[in-house]
Amino acid sequence: MAEKMLQFTHVQRAMPAKRDPDARTHDFDEIYSEFSLKAAGAQAARCSQCGVPFCQQGCPLSNNIPDWLKLAAEGRLEEAWQVSTATNNMPEICGRICPQDRLCEGICTIEQSGHGTVTIGSVEKFITDTAWEEGWVKPITPPRERAQSAGIIGAGPGGLAAAEQLRRKGYQVTVYDAYDRGGGLMVYGIPGFKLEKPIVARRIKHLEDSGVTFKFNTRIGPDMSLQDVRKAHDTVLIATGVYQAKDLKCPGVGSTGVLAALDFLTASNRKSFGDAVPAYDDGTLNAEGKRVVVIGGGDTAMDCVRTAVRQGAKSVTCLYRRDRANMPGSQREVANAEEESVVFEWLASPEAILDTKAGKAKAVRAARMKLGEPDASGRQSPVKTGDTVDIKADMVIKALGFDPEDLPELFGEPALTVNRWGAVRVDYATMETSLSGVYAAGDIVRGASLVVWAIKDGRDAAEAMHRAMKSAEKASKVAAE
Ligand SMILES: Cc1cc2nc3c(=O)[nH]c(=O)nc-3n(C[C@H](O)[C@H](O)[C@H](O)COP(=O)(O)OP(=O)(O)OC[C@H]3O[C@@H](n4cnc5c(N)ncnc54)[C@H](O)[C@@H]3O)c2cc1C
Ligand code: SF4
Repeated sequence: MAEKMLQFTHVQRAMPAKRDPDARTHDFDEIYSEFSLKAAGAQAARCSQCGVPFCQQGCPLSNNIPDWLKLAAEGRLEEAWQVSTATNNMPEICGRICPQDRLCEGICTIEQSGHGTVTIGSVEKFITDTAWEEGWVKPITPPRERAQSAGIIGAGPGGLAAAEQLRRKGYQVTVYDAYDRGGGLMVYGIPGFKLEKPIVARRIKHLEDSGVTFKFNTRIGPDMSLQDVRKAHDTVLIATGVYQAKDLKCPGVGSTGVLAALDFLTASNRKSFGDAVPAYDDGTLNAEGKRVVVIGGGDTAMDCVRTAVRQGAKSVTCLYRRDRANMPGSQREVANAEEESVVFEWLASPEAILDTKAGKAKAVRAARMKLGEPDASGRQSPVKTGDTVDIKADMVIKALGFDPEDLPELFGEPALTVNRWGAVRVDYATMETSLSGVYAAGDIVRGASLVVWAIKDGRDAAEAMHRAMKSAEKASKVAAE
């Protein structure tokens, strides 16, 4: 199949088919199906093959998008996969969950010219899903084994990307994670309807088959000290993500039924794995039959509202203090949530959780807002109009974002420098922290961000770790001569 490119004037933009809301809200399976080979080729052939590909600039990994689109349009999928995988350790995951409207697709030239972006993410997903199905993804066999080893703390996308890059170069790699499974927020935060769990699990297995050692249920700090990790390895990467939930500051926030978003999502994801989750089974973390109000306007809030729908909530409302155009979450996810009957209360900010005499949440009182003058960042600040509204709620989920834990305290390592928000400080040229030979990547450096940025950081850190270990190896050889 050899498609000509530049088909955007007469081939309409199309996403893979989306399951009907009535069908998809009864399970946690992904909502988009896969392109057929023909549809993927036709969509890829819409690319205008720009001399200066803006899409590539919009991608944090600088993926060589026009090249893989052309190869996919020509049906040369294995080559397309090789190009795609050269810059991205998890193209099928990014293709599923990157907010493409804010990244590659948002600045696609044909999107800017009003023809509708090339569906870059869906083609990327198709290419690598095909690679897995066809058996093109093989365990890594490095050109030579090296004696030096890397200890990676955190099996989220940042840690996994670094582990793969270092293993490819022949280093001995051990990944430590506090959880019992690898994947970080890709397994315990992001729900299956955006990213099915076997997609992540096969990446972990691939690394295991490639010789990476995983030590799960090992929380660095309480279970093993950072000093011991440093002693055990030539180089160390901190990729622990950010897990301290930002809290709501209003009366009634301690009422029964007021939950942290990640507790709710983790319980739901664990149920999908078939794990025992007593707090779900006793109803504490289960939205079934409840009137649910989710507070926040980011990806986490969108995942909470849609999870609550799937658990059989009686009603689900999302409260956000700015308007739709100014929310941080992906517009695609808002549209999906609306289709799934989530009600959005824009320009509404929680003032109090009203509770019963027994201390159970019964409603959220929200102040009506309007957008005022732009603040220092240029963003319009929400200001109160003076009106309020009470929204009935038996379950209130706080999805206001995350801060880093106090890592110097947790690790007993005061010399590890953090910024005023608690994120680990690095030299961005190398991703090295204030501790020699200790690097950091992902959310713990950037604050809550995206999978694709964690992958980028993991790759950059791995490259710097490799350079440092190579120099050390050379120096020890010279010294021995
Ligand atoms: C609900 C939700 C939805 C999201 N949706 C999207 C989305 O649609 N698209 C997108 O791109 N991004 C999304 N994100 C953001 C994305 O998941 C993160 O930016 C990304 O996972 C960060 O990767 P990371 O490797 O830095 O950390 P994480 O994925 O958080 O992984 C960190 C790992 O470190 C482990 N760890 C922590 N402390 C220790 C310790 N002391 N010792 C050992 N192990 C430790 C944790 O157990 C975890 O496995 C979402 C986030 C959330 C919370
Ligand atoms: S990794 Fe994300 S931003 Fe980059 S091309 Fe893929 S979907 Fe777009």
